[in-house]
Amino acid sequence: MIKGAIFFLIIMVAIGLIGNAIAPGSVGRMVRRQLPKASTCPRCGRYLFGKTGCDCRKG
Ligand SMILES: [Zn+2]
Repeated sequence: MIKGAIFFLIIMVAIGLIGNAIAPGSVGRMVRRQLPKASTCPRCGRYLFGKTGCDCRKG
């Protein structure tokens, strides 16, 4: 069991090192892609949900 855990850790570290060596910064970009910047209204800055737009444009 412990051997398996150590092996898994080594694999994870190796993947991180190889990823960094092949494309530096790509890991950070991937993490950032998972947290996309929420679209905000250009007029009032409120967060937009869906595609209907902001309330400030309707009135
Ligand atoms: Zn707005």
